[in-house]
Parts: sequence; structure tokens; C-alpha cells
Amino acid sequence: MARERGEFSLVYQKQVDRDGEAVLGVEALLRWNHPTRGGISPALFIPLAEQNGLIRDITGWVLDRAMTETKDLDGLTLAVNASAVEFGDPEFADELAVILARHDFDPRRLEVEITETAILSEGDEVRRSMDRLHAMGVKIALDDFGVGYSSLSHLQLYPFDKLKIDRMFVTRCSDDVQSATLVHALVSIGRALGMKVVAEGVEDENQRKFLRATGAHAMQGFLFGRPMPIAELKRELADPIAPESKKVAAGGR
Ligand code: C2E
Ligand code: CA
Ligand code: CA
Repeated sequence: MARERGEFSLVYQKQVDRDGEAVLGVEALLRWNHPTRGGISPALFIPLAEQNGLIRDITGWVLDRAMTETKDLDGLTLAVNASAVEFGDPEFADELAVILARHDFDPRRLEVEITETAILSEGDEVRRSMDRLHAMGVKIALDDFGVGYSSLSHLQLYPFDKLKIDRMFVTRCSDDVQSATLVHALVSIGRALGMKVVAEGVEDENQRKFLRATGAHAMQGFLFGRPMPIAELKRELADPIAPESKKVAAGGR
């Protein structure tokens, strides 16, 4: 499979504070470089891997690689995407514990992102997985909040640490009153329930300012950096003035 042929790699996207200054963590995103077809989007191949029973192997590989590559990024959170299918798998938490121990990786630095699809299919098992991850110190984020099968009752029934507001709302928040109102409400709900709220897909300064005003805790998006290979990420973290976005923001070049 692609994993054994060395066709997978990871890129990392920064998550920054609401001022767009301090880097709080990174999200690992999978890339598949197919020898003849080139880069294939995870949005295409992850659903296929779920259907074919390959997702467990893939997530295992992602966790392993991401912990190896980010082990020395002390103080930064590592977010990894888990698929709906495996969160309902009773062995998922055990496997995660084994990988954490193998890398001697601080569980409090790890954050697992899931979408609401997971809850719909395997509610009870998902709840058990969540409780076990929490007992280890791992945090859980609800990804793509606001789209798909969103239900406010999920926020009450499942103990998420973080809400990630989907890019769809963020994209329009600075130029469409309805989207702005929705984003404001979503941030307020998350905050009222004691969760950290992250806005995804922040691409411009107007969006950042709006989101900051709504009370979002953190942001992620091209404005602060595209997903990048680990070597590039480490260079940027070592020299925070270098990124293009900062040069532009500072009026340089
Ligand atoms: P996601 O978890 O919602 O990840 C965010 C996606 O938005 C990433 O796409 C990222 O490159 C993109 N993005 C980030 N900031 C911006 C922005 O400012 N503007 C725009 N237009 N896009 C932005 P990517 O890497 O193509 O991943 C797509 C989806 O594939 C992810 O959505 C996630 O659901 C899934 N995925 C990626 N890696 C993994 C993985 O390791 N495991 C699993 N199960 N799913 C993964
Ligand atoms: Ca995600
Ligand atoms: Ca997302």
C-alpha cells in the first residue's frame, strides 16, 4: 500500500492566538504523492480508506510520524485528525496509548480532531473513547463545527475541549451579515460551554479582526501560514519574522 511505498507525508499548519502572533500548536495534515497521478487530496482518499478498512493503518502511521516529527516542539499542541470510523472502535484509545508511550510523547500536547459524523454512527462507543482519551490527558476537538449534521445537543452530550468553526462560515464572516451573526453565535456557544474556540480557514486581516472581536481564542488559516513540511515549520518557528504573511503585514516587500 501507499504507506509502505513511502508515498505518504505530513504537512503542518500553525494554530495561532487571536492576535495572530503566538503559535499555539500545529495540525498534522496527510499528503499522498502518487507516483503517476501526483498529489491526491486527503478529502478524496480518506473516505475511500474508511470504506476499505485501511484507515486504522493510516491513522496509526500519521500519529507515529507526527509524534516523531514534532516531539521537540515543546509547548506546542499537536492536532491529528481521526476518522469517524475509528473513534467508534473500542481499541482506538488503547492503540493511541501504545503510540504515545512508544514516543514518550506528553499526552497533554496531543489533540484529536473528530467530526460529528463519528457521533451519529457509534454514539456510545465514541463517548467511551472520549472518556478514555481524557483520562490519559489527551484533548478532543470537534472539527468542521457548523456544517453537516451539526446538532447543539452534541455539545452538551459529549465533552469536547475545543470547537473548530468551519471555514465555510469564516470565509464569509467579514462581508455578509448573516454569516457574521452565525459566527458570533457559534463562538459564544462554545465559550459559554467552557470550550476553546478556533476559527478555521482565516485568509485575511478583516476576518481575523472580526473573529478576534467575537472572542474566538485561536485561529488557523492561510493568513498565518499554509500547511508546510516539518523542516519548513521548524525554520519558521526559529525565525518568526521570516514568514511571507508577516512581511506583508509589516508592510515589507
Ligand atoms: P480539515 O481537518 O478541516 O483540515 C483543514 C483543511 O483546510 C486542510 O485541507 C487545509 O489545507 C485547508 N485550509 C487551511 N487553511 C485554509 C485557508 O485559509 N483557506 C483554505 N481555502 N483552505 C485552508 P487538506 O489538507 O486538503 O485536508 C482536507 C481534509 O482531509 C481535512 O479537513 C481532513 O478532514 C482530512 N484529512 C487530512 N489529513 C487527515 C488525516 O491525517 N486523517 C484523517 N482522518 N483525515 C485527514
Ligand atoms: Ca482537522
Ligand atoms: Ca476542519
